[in-house]
Amino acid sequence: MNDEITVRLREDFPILSREVYGKTLVYLDNAATTQKPRCVVEAISDEYYNVNANVHRGVHFLSQQATELHEQSRETVRQFIGADSTSEIVFTRGTTESINLLASCLRQIGTLNAKENGCGNPQKKNAQREIIVSTLEHHSNIVPWQLNGFKVRPIPMIDNGMPDMDAYRLMFNENTALVAVTQVSNVLGTINPVKEIIRIAHDNNICVLIDGAQSTPHMKVDVKDMDCDFFAFSGHKIYGPTGVGVLYGKERLLEQLPPYQGGGEMIRNVSFELTTFNDLPYKFEAGTPDYVGTHSLAAALDYVTAVGMDCIHHHEQELYRYAVKQMMEIEGMVIYGVTDGQGQMLNADISECAGPISFKVGNIHHLDLGTLLDRLGIAIRTGHHCAEPLMHRLGIEGTARASFGLYNTFDEIDRFVAGIRRVAQMFG
Ligand code: PMP
Repeated sequence: MNDEITVRLREDFPILSREVYGKTLVYLDNAATTQKPRCVVEAISDEYYNVNANVHRGVHFLSQQATELHEQSRETVRQFIGADSTSEIVFTRGTTESINLLASCLRQIGTLNAKENGCGNPQKKNAQREIIVSTLEHHSNIVPWQLNGFKVRPIPMIDNGMPDMDAYRLMFNENTALVAVTQVSNVLGTINPVKEIIRIAHDNNICVLIDGAQSTPHMKVDVKDMDCDFFAFSGHKIYGPTGVGVLYGKERLLEQLPPYQGGGEMIRNVSFELTTFNDLPYKFEAGTPDYVGTHSLAAALDYVTAVGMDCIHHHEQELYRYAVKQMMEIEGMVIYGVTDGQGQMLNADISECAGPISFKVGNIHHLDLGTLLDRLGIAIRTGHHCAEPLMHRLGIEGTARASFGLYNTFDEIDRFVAGIRRVAQMFG
């Protein structure tokens, strides 16, 4: 994507031309949430102005039209992630709820049959069941498992952020219930070798959940090619609305799970004595869904598809390499997972990275760095990024983090790097 295209795309995002503290905004907090193109905002207002009615319930025109839009959105998601069937696409409030759903349902049945006609992992009675995760996980892929009585076991991490695959191979035992790993780290930008992780889990008859919150916005995702059993992502991180997300699950596995919440829509018949449950995916969608959210999520997916996921990935990789190269020239710069603090690269090849950059400069506190950059109009994120266990592993409290989106430009990287230099000078 050359800068001319990026400049044209930026016109779709009105917020990018606003000023903060008298300076044009440089928005580099895309891993937290992305800005919304006009088509997404218009999909929301259009539905409220012209279509609004509850879905799956009414015989009247508006209800049928709203239902059609909602179900078309499910088809858009199916195509976007390459699933077999819309039965496999469960709408949730986001990645966090998708993982909570799976954790809660898995607690009830204990184990899943990873293989067709398999019998699951014959776990020991009363033993605490275990979830294997990577060290990089966001709290939302740790806490739901703990809340549901699982023991969370991290795969040891090597310094460049990659999982120690030899250690991983040895982690399976009779209590392993699931492997749940992020595809891209929201802190280090590391891309986990998910295909290999999944292959090894399947060899052990264990299913895998992939947290796609940070991968879906930046690269082409294909759940069938990956062969993951479950996949979760959030609308707001991929230029869509807040409050809506997806849990994909292989149909055969979703069938094995009990419902998540009770209420309207998820039932077939209800009596005071007995309730029977709806088909997939509605079994997991109790209550009125966020049908305006699903419709505008589809608008966002159509938008990125029209730009081209490969194009977006390539552009963000270039921004990443451009930023890392310049940042490395700043004295005292440490880029976590990328450099070792003495200016040496940990990864010989960063060509595949396109995620967030977590860094520190000398002894400047990340909060000071973030606050002073903000005064220059540059929005970055500071703190532990909801990944405290990773912070413990790195021996730090937090980092400054810059993360890119399809609309960021090389000029913005220049302003960002100049901003860091200015802050560094202020601190002597
Ligand atoms: N996983 C990862 C890797 C994330 O980066 C995030 C959000 N920062 C989440 C899960 C949670 O996403 P949400 O808050 O949209 O549910």
